[in-house]
Amino acid sequence: MVTIAVTSESADEPRVAVSPDTVKKFTGLGAKVRIESGAGLRSRFSDEAYRAAGAETVGRAEALAGADILLKVRRPSIDELTALKPGAIVAGMIDPFGDREALDALAATGTTVFSMEFMPRISRAQSMDVLSSQANLAGYKAVVDGAAMFGQALPMMMTPAGTVPAARAFIMGVGVAGLQAIATSRRLGAQVTATDVRPATKEQVQSLGAKFIAVEDDEFKQAQTAAGYAKPMSAEYQAKQAELIANHIKTQDIVITTALIPGRPAPKLITRAMIESMKPGSVIVDLAAERGGNTELTEPGKTAETPNGVKIYAPLNLAGTIAVNASSLYAKNLLAFLDTMIDKKEKTLAVNWDDDLIKGTLIAKDGRIVHPNLATKSP
Ligand code: NAD
Repeated sequence: MVTIAVTSESADEPRVAVSPDTVKKFTGLGAKVRIESGAGLRSRFSDEAYRAAGAETVGRAEALAGADILLKVRRPSIDELTALKPGAIVAGMIDPFGDREALDALAATGTTVFSMEFMPRISRAQSMDVLSSQANLAGYKAVVDGAAMFGQALPMMMTPAGTVPAARAFIMGVGVAGLQAIATSRRLGAQVTATDVRPATKEQVQSLGAKFIAVEDDEFKQAQTAAGYAKPMSAEYQAKQAELIANHIKTQDIVITTALIPGRPAPKLITRAMIESMKPGSVIVDLAAERGGNTELTEPGKTAETPNGVKIYAPLNLAGTIAVNASSLYAKNLLAFLDTMIDKKEKTLAVNWDDDLIKGTLIAKDGRIVHPNLATKSP
């Protein structure tokens, strides 16, 4: 029988790696799930709900002892790994490009580590795509929080006492988070514009009822990689883009920035001068904060306020602020991935090491870092 351990996350991570729903499915697959007591509380999953779904809720040491699999939201500690069965499997958002020394130490324990952030974006793996499931929620929450901070109405309201004008929302970066931010701000009644460097986004923006604005030159036409991501843009393009944004941003009330380029710091799209040109009371929500932010004034994890009264909110774990939903979706992502590793008949672990999903996400095995993207140590 396959034993799955789940432990509490650190104080700043409210999410949890299993939901009562996924526990039920794991139990149905013949696995035994041992959850550290209280691990789900910040996602409103009680020990009782986990037990009703078939899990055991126990102390941390008991949950880990000799387990075959450890499921995490964030990187586990060395102590957690050494308590597992030798060579056990760990799956979580390992932050593969973060603290390399600590990652090497995790690998040295001999644990088989899967980093969910590396899940290939192929259709078979859509249900396992943690970046999408969490970015979608973050895009929604960015608008809701931005609207609350803005402190004015978003929809146009025509009343006998006068007309309330519609707020203007500008979404920069139209990936998964940006698309949800467009949809949410439209639902709240804002007048929405959006920009991106990938031409494919133009139609997506328009189909959500927003207006697309971008520098649509030859470079723009080539800006999407085969994997569907943005390329870093030339200095010349960036200058043209900055001019366009500078003119547009002056009139905006809520700006949501989500622009990222894989493996690089977030592009700085909004300068100090642009922020200083904005109206008092306007709000920027910077979802790229974890990678340095899309504005020159972003302070990751904080809310900065300029002398002219513009707030720059730069949350680091927005999905975690709606932990019930974030944990439910994340847990489903893990379940779909683990499902590929469990032999349903024998009820044993049966990892297909040649599977693209396994090869794409496996970062450490037999005491070594094995992923090609991590072959050279980052500085
Ligand atoms: P991301 O988080 O890497 O980046 C967010 C957005 O920022 C992207 O749209 C990118 O083009 C944009 N951006 C980068 N530099 C910019 C700049 N200088 N100015 C303006 N915008 C800039 O992106 P993501 O959310 O991971 O999505 C990337 C792509 O992958 C999208 O096409 C998405 O639809 C696709 N996707 C596919 C699958 C799948 O097939 N399974 C799953 C999820 C996402």
